[in-house]
Amino acid sequence: MSLYGKTFRGLLFPLYESVLRRRPTTKFFDEYGRSEALLRADLEAIQSRKLRSLLKHCSESVPYYRSLWKSLDIDVQALNSAEDLAALPVLRKSDIRSNFDQLRTESRLGPPITKSTGGSTGEPLTFEHDQESYFRRIAVMWRGYGWGNVRLGEPTIYLWGTALGSQGSANALKERLFNRLYNRRLLSAFDLSEATLRDYVSQIDRFRPESIVAYVAPLVELAKFCQRNGLKPFSPKSILTGAEPLTEVDRTLIELVFRCPVYNTYGSREFMLIAAECEQQQGLHINIDQVVVEVVDEKDNATDGRGRILITDLHNTQMPFIRYEIGDVGQLSDEYCKCGRPYPMLSFVEGRLLDVILGTNGQVVSGEFFPHFFKDFAEIRNFQVIQTDRDKLVIKVVWSASPDESLLDVIRQEIANSLGQGMEVEFESLDAIPLGPSGKHRVTMSRIQ
Ligand SMILES: [Zn+2]
Repeated sequence: MSLYGKTFRGLLFPLYESVLRRRPTTKFFDEYGRSEALLRADLEAIQSRKLRSLLKHCSESVPYYRSLWKSLDIDVQALNSAEDLAALPVLRKSDIRSNFDQLRTESRLGPPITKSTGGSTGEPLTFEHDQESYFRRIAVMWRGYGWGNVRLGEPTIYLWGTALGSQGSANALKERLFNRLYNRRLLSAFDLSEATLRDYVSQIDRFRPESIVAYVAPLVELAKFCQRNGLKPFSPKSILTGAEPLTEVDRTLIELVFRCPVYNTYGSREFMLIAAECEQQQGLHINIDQVVVEVVDEKDNATDGRGRILITDLHNTQMPFIRYEIGDVGQLSDEYCKCGRPYPMLSFVEGRLLDVILGTNGQVVSGEFFPHFFKDFAEIRNFQVIQTDRDKLVIKVVWSASPDESLLDVIRQEIANSLGQGMEVEFESLDAIPLGPSGKHRVTMSRIQ
């Protein structure tokens, strides 16, 4: 760790946040940091206390929940812990869109922060949260980043899609100044031309970051570029990925090229960091003192298996999300991590719900299928699979060597074996796979309901 990093964390950051801006950020850093040493049961007790207080707030001051729960004859005073949440209905994006004003609290909390998300899933959403919730999110984020050895003030490269850390309104000069102070450099995840990738490698070599924080797809592009061109980029101490699921195929490739561990995180615009991997790489530790994560089956009942993820934000009192269906699939783990931290784990989070491919044989194939399948074909540089119909897949491919018919037949045959004989496969050759509106690459997309 650098002297600058220590000075930044111990002096400059607290001075700026607490003294100059009078923000509670460092207080929350301490609060969330302390919980690392708790026992699981004590941490769960904190979660239950926060949950009871949130439910009380919702039934008193949020019209949507007040009337919904009343109409269903639910007494939230009787709900005591995360397991009891099952008594309440799931909140869907469509519920938020059609009840936006009723979901806002009637309490006066000061000006809310407004955000939008979801362009890449085809379901855009605008929502609000309060100021205190924002500072808590920052603290929870840095705690989780620390598990992957990424620390405030240490030299860090971000291969990311948007401006960092600002709440908007930051002009370019201010942004540059802040990046200098925070000891970070931003490389845009939107521009991934060959010339830009070459420039990114030389920027990494010159900046010599302690860590890299990146979207998965652009980082995979960068790693493949290094491999193609025989480049050996500077090796940081750790790499942390976010904003999209990390497949084991991706992780292996990135670790090979950058010669350091890669840690997965799970977060979203709606909540910031939900869960993060520690140095053990055994799964994602859930920030249960910040959110409740449930995994449910098709009847909205809790399941130990793979299921839809629901999130309850314990601190967004401005526009509370209770059992919000985020659109991801995952599985909870009942294992205790070797690191000894008290946070329970998600064993994995995989593609968006829409990314699941349906076979003509009734088979449901997760988004992980195609990366695993195509990793053995050297001819495929990049691909995207789109299910356009019940019985049709369009596979967009950037070929590294032009394929002959026999190769295409092998792929068609394999797909027929897994997804059924009636599945039509159409190949589309491209020079580059376009990224989604948010700069993320979607490996599989489904256009059917
Ligand atoms: Zn751990």
